[in-house]
Amino acid sequence: FVIPDFSSFTKDIEEIYCNCKSNTLGKLADYIPQLARYSPNFWGVSICTVDGQRFSIGDVDEPFTLQSCSKPLTYAIALEKLGPKVVHSFVGQEPSGRNFNELVLDQNKKPHNPMINAGAILTCSLMNALVKPDMTSAEIFDYTMSWFKRLSGGEYIGFNNAVFLSEREAADRNYALGFYMRENKCFPKRTNLKEVMDYYFQCCSMETNCEAMSVIAASLANGGICPTTEEKVFRPEVIRDVLSIMHSCGTYDYSGQFAFKVGLPAKSGVSGGMMLVIPNVMGIFAWSPPLDDLGNTVRGLQFCEELVNMFNFHRYDNL
Ligand code: GLN
Repeated sequence: FVIPDFSSFTKDIEEIYCNCKSNTLGKLADYIPQLARYSPNFWGVSICTVDGQRFSIGDVDEPFTLQSCSKPLTYAIALEKLGPKVVHSFVGQEPSGRNFNELVLDQNKKPHNPMINAGAILTCSLMNALVKPDMTSAEIFDYTMSWFKRLSGGEYIGFNNAVFLSEREAADRNYALGFYMRENKCFPKRTNLKEVMDYYFQCCSMETNCEAMSVIAASLANGGICPTTEEKVFRPEVIRDVLSIMHSCGTYDYSGQFAFKVGLPAKSGVSGGMMLVIPNVMGIFAWSPPLDDLGNTVRGLQFCEELVNMFNFHRYDNL
């Protein structure tokens, strides 16, 4: 086993979990009512190792929407199908140094990276216009969900329609990003912007829980092979690219500090999720709705920082 003494490991995880539980800082996202209604007390952590050992503590079955944690996954599908050359002729690899939804493009008039809203909307356009140009919106939705499900080894991936409808209503900035990118000719030919925006909101509104997300994180840790089903979902080259971008751009405007302090690829989302990947070892998903000023889950972030203080999981430990 990759973690030989798993039960003593999980005791330490439990201790970190309890330390974070008492942290009541942070505020719920309130741009849509469905997110504002969550109890700030929800707190769950699930772990899945690359050899399939599992551990969960807290509110790990409670459903929440993927939000920005969907961004690395749609990016991975685009890479798998189109390759990095094509994908990165449309979107960069650089942290933007700005807010995740800021109306800004890089010097080449491309979105900075696929982990911010502009870049994720662009990735959605690649799915529509290049990966599956012959599919209807309904078919692309099913197609995407089936990738997410395979990554999770068949565990819970659903869809929250109320969140989808609210996202679409409260989306002035995301539409602005879409129009700004269309003005700058960022999209591939044949892009239908309205369909692309709907698809982006649908990806944000996919529903899941900590348990399922820990398997997805573990599939990323395992070079694209799902550890519970042993299905080869993505090529290892795809995973390398996805993890690289998560490492530099995964936690909004905290990404530089996160790379320094935690030294691992991660992706956070506005519903309070934090997906952490320890390459070749395990995937971790931490979920708690209260967010800090930069939009990262307070407890999830504390968990990651305490984890690398206790274990040498930082990429540059023990060099
Ligand atoms: N639905 C959110 C948005 O597009 C997702 C962003 C996030 O999780 N930070 O604004």
